[in-house]
Amino acid sequence: MVLPKRAFGSTGIEVSILGLGTVKLGRDQGVKYPHGFAIPDDRQATELIALARDLGINLIDTAPAYGISEERLGKLLQGQRDQWVICSKVGEEFENGQSSFDFTPEHTRFSIERSLQRLRTEIIDMVLVHSDGNDETIIRQLGTLDALAELKAQGKIRAFGMSSKTVAGGLLAAEKSDGVMVTWNLQCDAELPVIDYCRAHGKGVLIKKALASGHVTLAPGEDPVQKTFEMLFKHSGVSSAIIGTINPAHLIGNAEKAARAIKG
Ligand code: NAP
Repeated sequence: MVLPKRAFGSTGIEVSILGLGTVKLGRDQGVKYPHGFAIPDDRQATELIALARDLGINLIDTAPAYGISEERLGKLLQGQRDQWVICSKVGEEFENGQSSFDFTPEHTRFSIERSLQRLRTEIIDMVLVHSDGNDETIIRQLGTLDALAELKAQGKIRAFGMSSKTVAGGLLAAEKSDGVMVTWNLQCDAELPVIDYCRAHGKGVLIKKALASGHVTLAPGEDPVQKTFEMLFKHSGVSSAIIGTINPAHLIGNAEKAARAIKG
């Protein structure tokens, strides 16, 4: 089974309908998952990435704020870089168990150079502003998206946008960039207007927390993962859902359910 791909807006980038989220490959502090976990070792991470690739997943999501995730991907994706669409972020840092934020153009440029080094790549496919919730202030006053537009013009990144947290901010980000990452799951559809806007205007949409960070999978009754994917992929504005899993059985099951959902 090979997962189908969809366009990420008008960028020309094609992404598998499921992407692999890598918080759990790099960080085990300050996370809100329902169960504790151990960060996979290199052999386990290598196998997980190979499995994802075999299932047709070509999109991998990381961030400077995900602990050692970027550095690990730099090592693990060596020799297969051209087979992946890498999405990383700017603006959030995570050190000593604490998040801090810097959305200035200077920090944005520094962060991209650091991500290029850590990821051992010449170009990053997508970079999103890792919002702290003040989406509109970041966009209107801090110049982060403008700095990303310049980095795109310089050929350091292929596409950019924002991982937003508000409807107003998501709409504004979509207007001024290539696309957004928004939350949509069985417990929360507040950001749906942003996805509708993106569909109407040719912007890409990545879904984060599609399984509510794992919490929807604990609900009894009808298979919540299947139900989630049916809801998400019925919307043609959704480019891909980034699911954070380190469990190979979950990865296979999720891919099967996504493929079934998209067939209708
Ligand atoms: P998620 O994908 O909704 O949920 C991940 C959790 O669900 C993991 O604990 C995983 O555990 C569990 N899970 C996955 N498939 C399952 C299945 N079939 N059955 C039972 N449990 C299952 O949430 P997320 O990790 O918070 O978000 C996904 C990704 O989006 C992140 O990795 C990150 O890349 C991105 N993200 C971005 C932002 C931002 O930009 N602000 C914020 C949050 C997330 P197992 O490992 O055991 O499968």
